[in-house]
Amino acid sequence: MSGDVSRPDRFRRRAVTPDEAVRRILERIRPLDAETVPLPEAWNRRLAEAVTAPHPYPPFRRSAMDGYAVRAEDLPDETGGSAEPAVLQVLETVPAGMVPHRPVGPGQASRVMTGAMLPEGADTVVMLEMTDAGDRPDAETVRIGKAVPKGRNVAEAGSELQAGDLLAAEGCRIGPGETALLSAFGLAGVRVVRRPRVGILSTGSELLEVHEPLAPGKIRNTNAWMLAGSVSDAGGEPILYGRVPDEPREAYASILKGLAECDLLITTGGVSVGDRDILTEIVSEWQGDVLFDKVAMRPGSPTTAAVRDGKLLLALSGNPGACFVGFHLFAAPAIRAMLKCGQPVPQTFQARTAEPFPKINAYARYVRSRIEIREGTIWVRPTGNDQSGLMATIAGADSLMVVPPLKTGIEAGEWMTVLPLREGGWP
Ligand code: AMP
Ligand code: MG
Repeated sequence: MSGDVSRPDRFRRRAVTPDEAVRRILERIRPLDAETVPLPEAWNRRLAEAVTAPHPYPPFRRSAMDGYAVRAEDLPDETGGSAEPAVLQVLETVPAGMVPHRPVGPGQASRVMTGAMLPEGADTVVMLEMTDAGDRPDAETVRIGKAVPKGRNVAEAGSELQAGDLLAAEGCRIGPGETALLSAFGLAGVRVVRRPRVGILSTGSELLEVHEPLAPGKIRNTNAWMLAGSVSDAGGEPILYGRVPDEPREAYASILKGLAECDLLITTGGVSVGDRDILTEIVSEWQGDVLFDKVAMRPGSPTTAAVRDGKLLLALSGNPGACFVGFHLFAAPAIRAMLKCGQPVPQTFQARTAEPFPKINAYARYVRSRIEIREGTIWVRPTGNDQSGLMATIAGADSLMVVPPLKTGIEAGEWMTVLPLREGGWP
């Protein structure tokens, strides 16, 4: 067994910093393979490879306005003050989608609609409102009273993008802009990274499934559903393994099955120092690498990560608050790294805390919080009591306020580091 965690004594674990824990996880992550999906299914997926423009865009020279396509040199010459209006012969009307039939020569113009291909010879479009023939589609001549700079209202072929230009980078999440680009270039089949299969296994003899009635001493398996949604949001495919009682043998079998079937397995519960903390027991005899079994953080310090046959096991605390934090600190970056995301760990930002935070701690504390914008400043407000066992204060959390290990409490208005939880960052 390798790894640098000595395991015999569950009370004597060596804590790594959260940053080090993430580093050890990301070091073990391999990006997943590519698959091709139809464009509508590519939404929110991540690109398996960079995409470049197969042709210039716009693909032809087109009008950016409803107007008359003219040669700028035929327009009134205003260099010596006022000038005679130009009266031009109208050749044809070119709606969007049609091809002009006639080149525009000296003294000539063609009526063109927005998006229409510009006739040969024309170099400028004069908007309808600047002519006397705006509301006369059949006008045989058009009168233009003012000069218009050459090239005005004309979008040259390739003026937006040249063939070969980068449209979107590898690992980029496909949102509205990327979808617009992919569709504009006819990329109907998109090479995306396969969604990581993320197994979710809850341990705990007290757990009931959602549909089961309450019974004495029992609670419902909340973590599994919270994690399933969070896995989907991060771009993974949740695979639900339900719950196992606190029986090491049964849990171990489920863990091996989950690891074999998934790219990543998340367990909840049983990582602490209690008598029935079976994950602790299983990890103490792990046939593989243990990356860490304690993190210098609150909540969730017993969070454990291990690797077997190249697959990552992330054992989160069963306390719902700690489970939520552990997912965002460790599992979400792992999922994003499998998806080739260029920045699997989101950037933090600074916000002022809306409330004092008197609690002091030897470990950094990740407080479930909510962002507020007031008077042009970003504030962060804890969603309530941040005890790890509390579930109700997960609701509404869109961020984690990071309280560093301090000997004094934090006062309202102090600037704090904030980790955004929304995919794509915050604000
Ligand atoms: P553990 O990490 O197993 O020691 O569990 C810590 C606390 O979290 C206990 O109060 C458990 O009952 C509770 N808990 C464990 N697993 C879950 C779960 N899947 N859903 C909700 N609460 C849980
Ligand atoms: Mg338990």
